[in-house]
Amino acid sequence: MQAAAVVVKNVFRRHRKQYIGLIILSAFLLLLSGGFSRYIKKVSGEIKLKTQMEEELQRKEVKALIEEFRCFPLRDTKEFYYENGYGTARTYGGKRKHEGIDLIPKDGKENVHPVVSASDGIVEQIGWLKLGGYRVGIRSETGFYYYYAHLASYAKGLRKGKKIRSGELLGYMGSTGYGTEGTRGKFVCHLHFGIYRQVEEKEKSLNPYYLLRFKENG
Ligand SMILES: [Zn+2]
Repeated sequence: MQAAAVVVKNVFRRHRKQYIGLIILSAFLLLLSGGFSRYIKKVSGEIKLKTQMEEELQRKEVKALIEEFRCFPLRDTKEFYYENGYGTARTYGGKRKHEGIDLIPKDGKENVHPVVSASDGIVEQIGWLKLGGYRVGIRSETGFYYYYAHLASYAKGLRKGKKIRSGELLGYMGSTGYGTEGTRGKFVCHLHFGIYRQVEEKEKSLNPYYLLRFKENG
C-alpha cells in the first residue's frame, strides 16, 4: 500500500506542471460552459419573446423595443406580482379593454415602492387623468410611449420636457385615479404599465407582458 502511495506521489511530483495545467484548464472549461449555458438561455428567451411580440408588431419595432427597454420599471421584482391581464374587460369610464399590465406590491403599501423608467426618453405627459390618476408618459427616441399610472407621488423635479434615462426614478406607486384629482383608494395599490405606438396617427397599445417577464431578471 505504502509503495503504491509512493509511486503515485512520485508520478504527481514528476508531472506536477501538467496536472496543475489540467486543473486550470478544467476550471476554465467549467466556467466557459456556465457562461455558455447562460448565453444560450438568454438567446432562446429572446427568440421566444420576438415570436410572441411579432404577433402584434413588425420585426424592426420588436428589435427597437427590446433594445431600448433596458430596465424593469420596479426596483425589486420579488416584492411584486403580475399576470397577463392585458385585454381583459374594464367598465369604469365606459366599456373598454385593459391596455396594460398591473404590477401589484405584496405589502400593498402606498407611496413607498419606487417606479423607474424602462427606457430613455422625454416626459411628454405628466399630471392627473380621470382613469390613470397621477400618471407620467415617457416618449422614447424611437417613438414608443411608456405610460405609468396611479402613482402616489412624482419624483422631485419631474416635469414636461425633461430628459429621462432608463432606471431613473419617476415616482412612487399608489392607487390614484377613478375620480376627480386626488382620488385614491378605489382599487389596490399598483402600477399600471402600458406601452403605446403610433399607427396611422392613432396611439395603439401593445401587450408589454412578455417584455416585462423577459426583463424581470435583468
Ligand atoms: Zn391596469
